[in-house]
Amino acid sequence: MEKLQSLRGMVDLLPAHTPLWQRLEATAREHFRRAGVAEIRTPLLEVTELFARGIGEATDVVGKEMYSFLDKGERRCTLRPEGTASVVRAAIQHGLLSQGPQRLWYGGPMFRYERPQAGRQRQFHQIGLEFLGFADPRSDVEAIAVAWDLLAELGVGGLALELNSLGSSDDRARYRSELVAWLEVRRDQLDSDSQARLATNPLRILDSKNPETQALLAGAPTLAGALAPGSRERFAAVQAGLEALGIPFQLNPRLVRGLDYYSHTAFEITSSQLGAQATVCGGGRYDGLVEQLGGPATSAIGWALGMERLVLLLEQLDSQRSAPAPDLYVVSRGTAAEPLALRLARELRLAGRAVELDLSGAAFGKQLKRADRSGAPWALVIGDGEAEQGQVILKRLRLPAGQIPGGSIPVGQADVEHAAAGQAEERLSLLELRERFA
Ligand code: ATP
Ligand code: MG
Repeated sequence: MEKLQSLRGMVDLLPAHTPLWQRLEATAREHFRRAGVAEIRTPLLEVTELFARGIGEATDVVGKEMYSFLDKGERRCTLRPEGTASVVRAAIQHGLLSQGPQRLWYGGPMFRYERPQAGRQRQFHQIGLEFLGFADPRSDVEAIAVAWDLLAELGVGGLALELNSLGSSDDRARYRSELVAWLEVRRDQLDSDSQARLATNPLRILDSKNPETQALLAGAPTLAGALAPGSRERFAAVQAGLEALGIPFQLNPRLVRGLDYYSHTAFEITSSQLGAQATVCGGGRYDGLVEQLGGPATSAIGWALGMERLVLLLEQLDSQRSAPAPDLYVVSRGTAAEPLALRLARELRLAGRAVELDLSGAAFGKQLKRADRSGAPWALVIGDGEAEQGQVILKRLRLPAGQIPGGSIPVGQADVEHAAAGQAEERLSLLELRERFA
């Protein structure tokens, strides 16, 4: 029979990879906790209009990348391509904004119909942060610092923060007409993509990947030049705040971001350790979005981090590190020993230990080889003889993980003392075993 396959661009996360994802998620949760950021979870499916209105009809995401369909009730639905519009919708719908400013984060799958390649999938995952109801430039700095510190703590190398200001919507409208006037007379020097954007989304021409277009743009009027004094001061305050925190950045006047809702601060964090898809995290201020989606006028800033790209980076770092080992590996054989082993494994797990139970019923030698390969520091060996006397054999396989460079399993003081005593194997009563590991 023909084998069924996952859809193109939809990727399974296999057990060899999930520990890294879990570490990433745990670190992010911890950083959000420290910064007083609360989690929000919204549905994967929304009405199409939310994204059309929120992200903008002329963007790539809405124009070409959405998974949209009619449901059985003939509603136009879309699998969420990003998180911000949904978070803002939920905040408006549940009146969160009337309860004061909100520091929120979300995580989970997003869907975009793109050409799959390394670091680019059709179902991918983001973790994102949204500060709703914050206008002060310090909130831009705080939001960026959470992303920067999280990436740094994970050990991601080659990080660079690129920063730009898109100004207010007035600044942008003024700049748009300047830019369009300048480009119109050079229309024939533009690639066809950029020619089309001239009418729909001219600012996006600035981040065209075409080298000839980029060369042409070197002489174009700049957005920075079009900023009103207030916008310029605001941008200076954000830069001063980052400098005060020691977070290095580069100004990138071409950074415009793909979604329409950004204003003032826009930023991306890239890593030199990624190939073509170098952007790990992107975000910015979106002061107009809440109102555009029917809520009260609300200043806001946020970012989203692409987890697949982050995992690619962490995998490079982790390539020498092996899968997490259990604390104990339980070896047993015989009609009295096997039920006791099952019971003890459960008891030790309830006491917080990671326990791998060998269920093969194979010869002791074979099971002990597997115990060794598991990386566990201890093997618990139970034969019928031991079981009948209410005893077990505890065998030291290696130094506790805490003493192995790169090891990650916390060990109790008793383990360390025992290892220091140099005993390779000892016979314990069940009571002694419980005392040692519970
Ligand atoms: P790109 O220019 O790479 O397409 P984007 O501007 O479309 O990125 P955002 O909408 O800002 O991306 O999303 C934030 C982050 O989510 C990106 O920086 C990236 O790390 C990740 N991301 C976006 N699209 C995908 C995808 N199709 N597959 C995997 N990760 C993605
Ligand atoms: Mg994109």
